[in-house]
Amino acid sequence: MERSVLTVGGSDSGGGAGIQADLKTFAALGVHGLSVITAVTAQNTLGVREVFPIPAEMIASQLDALVEDFDISWAKTGMLFSPDAISLVAERLRELRCSVVVDPVIAAEAGGSLIAEGAILTLRDELIPVASVITPNIFEAEAITGVKVVDLESAREAAMRILDMGARAVVITGGHLDCRAAGMPADECVDLLVTKDAVACVSGKRREGGNHGVGCTYSAALTALLSMGMSLDDAVRQAHNFAARSIEGSRPVGHGAAPVDQTA
Ligand code: PLP
Repeated sequence: MERSVLTVGGSDSGGGAGIQADLKTFAALGVHGLSVITAVTAQNTLGVREVFPIPAEMIASQLDALVEDFDISWAKTGMLFSPDAISLVAERLRELRCSVVVDPVIAAEAGGSLIAEGAILTLRDELIPVASVITPNIFEAEAITGVKVVDLESAREAAMRILDMGARAVVITGGHLDCRAAGMPADECVDLLVTKDAVACVSGKRREGGNHGVGCTYSAALTALLSMGMSLDDAVRQAHNFAARSIEGSRPVGHGAAPVDQTA
């Protein structure tokens, strides 16, 4: 039986981010994608209008259906929204003993909160300890740790604190770090990988294009690549390249932010 990769997160009705971006990424990389929906958003390229959290029993029922039938060794989490959903998903993924990439989704770039008030504490205490890899951008890293993340030094400090919370590896994503002190050009786009044993930078030229859904796409690509047996270093580099190509291929399908294109 072929392995399947699971995404647990929110639906973006505009098709740019969330579960929709994850499944497109899995398909582009040739893995079968499963999905457990934790919240439905009424959303388009202009922003998030409404969030409807799925009741915990229905989240559990989706997981039950999948566990009964599929061989799941890798999963990713995205927008879980409520403390109840975060607790439930963390516990079930721990029981499943699968490896987990956590994308600690907090807010949409175009505006709109994607996490319930107070839920960051649950994320920190219950989900982060389950994470094989966690992929915060600088804003998420700051919300989780309280460290203002601006450059390589502060990113490393925040990542070390997240390792102390129980994650096995941290990638500060999104290319927002100012790396000029390390001799890199101002327009370099850098992701920082930090584990207990090593620190590594993955960098490339900043790509022109829309970036709606790029965080979801990056973490989904990382999950798919790791599920194929790739090393963490290689998967972090390849996921960076996949996200960069998706940004270059973005198209203005609505009146707002152009979603990235995973098929580019
Ligand atoms: N909607 C959902 C369901 C998401 O999971 C995310 C991001 O993780 C977003 C919207 C926001 O996407 P972006 O900030 O890339 O526009």
